[in-house]
Amino acid sequence: MNKEKVIVIGSGPAGLTAAIYAARATLDPLVIVGNQLGGQISITAEVENYPGFPEPDLTGPDLVDRMYRQAERFGSRFDYDEVIDVDFSKGSPFTVKTNSNEYETEAVIVTAGASPRRLGVPGEEDFIGRGVSFCATCDGFFFRGRDVVVVGGGDSALEEGLFLTKFANKVNIIHRRDELRAGPTLEKRARANEKIDFIFDSVVDEVIGNGMVTAVQTSNLKTGETNRLSTDGVFIYIGHYPNSKFLEGHLAMDEHGYVIADEKMRTSVEGIFAAGEIQDSYFRQIATSVGQGCAAAIQCEKWLSERE
Ligand code: NAP
Repeated sequence: MNKEKVIVIGSGPAGLTAAIYAARATLDPLVIVGNQLGGQISITAEVENYPGFPEPDLTGPDLVDRMYRQAERFGSRFDYDEVIDVDFSKGSPFTVKTNSNEYETEAVIVTAGASPRRLGVPGEEDFIGRGVSFCATCDGFFFRGRDVVVVGGGDSALEEGLFLTKFANKVNIIHRRDELRAGPTLEKRARANEKIDFIFDSVVDEVIGNGMVTAVQTSNLKTGETNRLSTDGVFIYIGHYPNSKFLEGHLAMDEHGYVIADEKMRTSVEGIFAAGEIQDSYFRQIATSVGQGCAAAIQCEKWLSERE
């Protein structure tokens, strides 16, 4: 079995920050990257609110690359695999299993993040990659001159809807209420964009297509009226769920599956720390995840040195 001092599970802003701090504290961290280096920001088109980057052209992948290079510079190592199981039951050292390795580690920082929530309607799964997308940055280009719908009324829906106007002919934003959840700046920009129309009080009941998406079936929650809206693409931005399945039964979680951590990022098991969206369903910002990743690594280092 490979022996490690600190394993960071996940490589989003929280994980990469924890790696930077752990590496600078000479803990020689191993980052188990997960599905995608950078996590959710690797599929974020524009990052406008991360302090220190006043220019309007910072993309999510740029920021990931910067954080990754910084973590690597101080000696963090990366295993491009996913964690499939853990054993925290006997205390430190803990066991962490990936698809191809098994590790024994003195401490763990869990930063496995969250994933986009699905609508759960007929056609959604069938047309993923054939018109249904959760990533405007990845797929927007394919909708040049086409019509798309965006589902959701939060910051993500509006931000990615605005990004899609660079390619699409028309962007219909379908939201289940008549009031947006998104902040006023994004709302103002979206309402001023001629390519964007809002369809309020409505939900998507079905994604329809023939090999590729051709339409969505919507219904108005106030009037009950149904409508078939022709579209080439469906971009879904209705929130997230924590990637905590592999931790079930190993760490205390809330009723939505978010790991419970205290103000020092300590979980229910001594020696296991958590940071970022795996334990934060409320703030969910790059800046807050970075702060939590930093705090988790500092606390982890303190815990390890007190034991020694
Ligand atoms: P969110 O704020 O949770 O918004 C999710 C949206 O999807 C809401 O409008 C919600 O409707 C709708 N929704 C949820 N379940 C649905 C369903 N089953 N069917 C139809 N609609 C559904 O998620 P988010 O937009 O991804 O943002 C997450 C966090 O990241 C927020 O804190 C946000 O401020 C932050 N963020 C910030 C920025 C920025 O500042 N530039 C950019 C992106 C994200 P209701 O409104 O009716 O609940």
